[in-house]
Amino acid sequence: MPAVSIAQTNAAPAFRVVPLGILGGIDESNLSAYMIAPAGSDNYICMDAGTLHAGIEKAVATKTFSVTGEQVLKQYIKGYFISHAHLDHISGLIINSPEDSTKNIYGLKSTLETIKTHYFTWESWANFANEGEEPRLKKYHYKALEPGSEAAVDNTTMQVQAFPLSHSNLTSTAFLVRSNDSYILYLGDTGADEIEKSYNLQKLWEAVAPLVKAKKLKAIMIEVSFPNGQPDKTLFGHLTPKWLMAEMAVLKNLAGSVKGLNLVVTHLKPPVQNIIKIKNQLKADNPLGLNLIYPQQGIAMVF
Ligand SMILES: [Zn+2]
Ligand SMILES: [Zn+2]
Repeated sequence: MPAVSIAQTNAAPAFRVVPLGILGGIDESNLSAYMIAPAGSDNYICMDAGTLHAGIEKAVATKTFSVTGEQVLKQYIKGYFISHAHLDHISGLIINSPEDSTKNIYGLKSTLETIKTHYFTWESWANFANEGEEPRLKKYHYKALEPGSEAAVDNTTMQVQAFPLSHSNLTSTAFLVRSNDSYILYLGDTGADEIEKSYNLQKLWEAVAPLVKAKKLKAIMIEVSFPNGQPDKTLFGHLTPKWLMAEMAVLKNLAGSVKGLNLVVTHLKPPVQNIIKIKNQLKADNPLGLNLIYPQQGIAMVF
């Protein structure tokens, strides 16, 4: 099966995205991880790393990649961007670390601190990183991102800017990826501002609204974890279809229109009946005309 292409416009695509894992829970072979590269390049970054091996194997089996899984892991992935340190966003990175090559792990300081003190330690695993407990194996280099300033990604032509998100008791992260004059926005887990008593999404929408207006933002990748039936008090820092659309209305008011904007819906939580509900609810109530896209593990998308 060839790679599927989802292009909204006739313009040449700016990005290729290969989902290695797409779900928000329990299936450890399919947890949040998305490889992103400029179209035509094999120099990828990986947004979160819940599942690596199973996703890479699937992508090789479906001919999304024409090299071996080992080459994808070691050579194609040039760095990881971890939105927050919940296990469903980083367990693939930990488990694959003995087989991986030298690269950077990017994230907010608070996220890197958790990885440093809880995962790459000699009691829970081995310290494959360049900071934290001795001895340090120095395969991974922590690169803390400052919110509000764009950082160049080593061994790629991409730049990334981090924005803090509110995710219950944790700070999660949105990563705005730039390649030349094109952008793609990946959000880690987040609740709605109104529920989280936060302005983080408001600030993010203010930052990207000019890019939406100028048609430079090629896609937004954002979570919807629960169907609308889930009570607000048990969302645990996640979105429902209703809350996603409320946030998109804020963006629409800032940008003028979001009609046709590519919205990749991530982190749907099993059971499958809930996933079906989420998809039906989003389809039934999409007043802004967003182009809703459901990623498939191992199948490439271009934007
Ligand atoms: Zn999660
Ligand atoms: Zn989380």
